[in-house]
Amino acid sequence: MNDFQVDLDRFAANLAVIAARIAPAAHMLVVKDDAYAHGLEPIVMRAWSEGVRWFGAFDVATGQAVRAALGPDARIFVWLVAGSDDAAAAVAAGLDIGVGDAHLLEHVADVAADANVLARVHLKVDSGLHRNGVRPEQWRDVIARVAELEKRGVVQAVGIWSHIGEASDADDDDARQIFETAVDQARTAGLAPEVLHLAASAASFERPEFRYDMARIGAYAYGIRPAGGPAEDSLEVEPIGALTTSVLRVDPSGVTIDLGSLDGLPSSLAGRMRVHASTGQPTVLAIGPTTSMLEPWPGAAAGDPIVVFGGAGAPTATDLAESIGSIGEEIVLRVSPLIRRSYR
Ligand SMILES: *Cc1c(COP(=O)(O)O)cnc(C)c1O
Repeated sequence: MNDFQVDLDRFAANLAVIAARIAPAAHMLVVKDDAYAHGLEPIVMRAWSEGVRWFGAFDVATGQAVRAALGPDARIFVWLVAGSDDAAAAVAAGLDIGVGDAHLLEHVADVAADANVLARVHLKVDSGLHRNGVRPEQWRDVIARVAELEKRGVVQAVGIWSHIGEASDADDDDARQIFETAVDQARTAGLAPEVLHLAASAASFERPEFRYDMARIGAYAYGIRPAGGPAEDSLEVEPIGALTTSVLRVDPSGVTIDLGSLDGLPSSLAGRMRVHASTGQPTVLAIGPTTSMLEPWPGAAAGDPIVVFGGAGAPTATDLAESIGSIGEEIVLRVSPLIRRSYR
């Protein structure tokens, strides 16, 4: 029986490490992709009870699900809002909307006016990643328009934000300069954002000047360290998800386990990874669609539990990723939705 076991106490411990590390900045817990495959609802419920008040949902459907789980007091930020219908749904659910272009701003203003509510927006400046965001040369026009919409009482610019690559300090420094200029210009134009946010996991831990009022942190909350970056023990976070399976059959040629590439295990890991069994750490010889073959070890028996990654004695998702030039998030996100999530 395959199981993705999520340790919610360990998650709470990671949240406490993050809170202490970034204080007095707040933690926006990023929960896109079903809370990085750990299961949205149990994760946001526990985070809420641990004191997290901001949630980064990415899309409107996820934002609505967080709202349904946590009720009216959670602050839920979405930054993929596509067109009028999406904007209307976001406004109706009371979501904080990331706005990175002038068209979306008008959509949000229109739906807020129709619904007779004040829409909370966080304006995004493109600080160099070119993923979306208002280009610096258009920033003044956009903030002037926001100031007008604020006067009309349809939109409130509660935040200014951007996203950085976190791959090179020099690029991040340039991005921060663009961000600072944009914030200054917005204040000069009469806006009074309550939250500035720029950093994700890596920069929020290593570079205090990137924290501002809030950091949007996903990976570290789930204990996923960056490939090629600092180890879990120096970050003081631990993986909260462990992928487990069991031995199906023991033959002279090898030991078959009930997990394969259709469950999400990249077949390129064959020959490059060891799993954790109670009596050994066998190498994975071959990864098929639904079952995989391990090298035989003394004492192997049908039904033996196997930890594939994330648990004690097993590699972490990032360990596996590094052996195939990938990142830990990718390994975790591949765990099939058909595999049961269990919580303790
Ligand atoms: C995914 C994401 C984050 C979180 O990044 P981590 O490295 O997982 O902490 C933050 N901000 C934005 C815009 C994102 O898309």
